[in-house]
Amino acid sequence: MHEASLVQGLLNVALTAVDEHNASSPQKKATRIQEIVCDLGLIACVEPQTLTGCFELFAEGTLARGATLTLRTAPLDCECTACGHVFSLTRRHFVCPRCGAGELHFNGGHGLTLMSVHVECEE
Ligand SMILES: [Zn+2]
Repeated sequence: MHEASLVQGLLNVALTAVDEHNASSPQKKATRIQEIVCDLGLIACVEPQTLTGCFELFAEGTLARGATLTLRTAPLDCECTACGHVFSLTRRHFVCPRCGAGELHFNGGHGLTLMSVHVECEE
């Protein structure tokens, strides 16, 4: 399943980031991941609900257990192939705002990008 590998990769990056943080600041270790914030590409072929479901499953038994996976929609850079207008889309409405053409060239928009990890530290 596509979503499963995305989530596994995401979780690995987040857990590695926490490990590195703990190695560099042993006096203020992160004990738990509270929230992971990601940008999801506008034309990524994944279901947000499937992503969060996979996340809960994979997070079990790790520092991310019970953490919230927050998915934001990343604005998608695109260019109208009819009039050359460059703009960014924030919703799935694939029409040029200037000339109304539906022929757009997308720049990215497929991925799932880790933006930030919020952790709880021991006192
Ligand atoms: Zn146009």
